[in-house]
Amino acid sequence: MIDFLNLKAINAQYGDELKDACARVIDSGRYLLGEELEAFETEFAEYCGAKHAVGVANGLDALVLVLRAWKELGKLRDGDEVIVPANTYIASILAISANGLTPVLVEPDPQTYNLSVAGVKRALTSRSKAVLPVHLYGLMAPMPELMALASEEGLLVLEDSAQAHGASIDGRRSGNWGHAAGFSFYPGKNLGALGDGGAVVSNDDELVDTIKALRNYGSVIKYENLYQGLNSRLDEIQAAMLRIKLRHLANETRQRQLVADRYLQEIKNPFVQLPVREVFEEHVFHLFVVRTKNRSALQKHLQSCNVQSLIHYPIPPHKQQAYSSWNQYSLPITEKIHQEVLSLPLSSVMMADDVSEVVSVVNRYAEPKD
Ligand SMILES: *Cc1c(COP(=O)(O)O)cnc(C)c1O
Repeated sequence: MIDFLNLKAINAQYGDELKDACARVIDSGRYLLGEELEAFETEFAEYCGAKHAVGVANGLDALVLVLRAWKELGKLRDGDEVIVPANTYIASILAISANGLTPVLVEPDPQTYNLSVAGVKRALTSRSKAVLPVHLYGLMAPMPELMALASEEGLLVLEDSAQAHGASIDGRRSGNWGHAAGFSFYPGKNLGALGDGGAVVSNDDELVDTIKALRNYGSVIKYENLYQGLNSRLDEIQAAMLRIKLRHLANETRQRQLVADRYLQEIKNPFVQLPVREVFEEHVFHLFVVRTKNRSALQKHLQSCNVQSLIHYPIPPHKQQAYSSWNQYSLPITEKIHQEVLSLPLSSVMMADDVSEVVSVVNRYAEPKD
């Protein structure tokens, strides 16, 4: 079986380093808000090219905390509209509704699966206060154009960078375009911890100070609470693991891009639509997502040839029971994407032979006649 993603093999490459770092934290006697976190925050901010990173418990919290901080700072109010792509992973939308803000779902560009400037413009109302572009599957949303529009319209921009560590446009990385960005270090993300983790990245000192309080019960000085905060910290063990993984991220990204590059060149099947690549360096290929009319037939074919594939994502947010009041919305582009997408195996540890095998299996697929 060719695995979709073998996390054990990825982390085994750094087994000794990870175990040493674990031992170092155990022996330090300090398990929260210590030196490992501070060092990781400095190193990750530098990686993104931004001024600050703030470690938090997970990617969802990173997004929640930015919006919450903007409310505490008086930049957002209950009911304000936040424009978000309708085809995103549900966490982007949960972060908005959890803060009493109103998600405004926008159809994506059907080629890139990301927000388009035209789509955002169509969704603007007098209550629009923020945009939440998602760099889906590792490809950047059109940030130069979105930032220009945001500055014309006075909108805040929060990047959902959970799938886009190191993705860039014109050499400027995700996390360093919007007013703030949320990253996830869920184990399967391009930069993955050995458990949950996340970070907010921003160049805004006031926002960062507010989030540092909010992640720790709303407190900066122990037992003095400025806000009704959360407990959302990135612990010392995970920070230590992430410092090691971060040193290898450039190489891992290159390996992913090499796999993606081979798929793009070698998969030639009229029934299978490949992702757009744009400029190569921009896309970090968190996922390699193809489209096909009869997805279950393609997935069965792959399965019968021992190739694992996954669907990102099978049900769009507006069709979820959690958002039942949206179930009747008509978002045909989003719905079609959710019916047709399939993610092929892709990771930094995939062997060249496995890539060849996936290519050959996909190229042998023929759509069943109905
Ligand atoms: C993974 C992910 C998140 C949430 O991150 P967690 O660390 O799992 O909470 C948010 N947005 C997108 C687009 C994601 O892929």
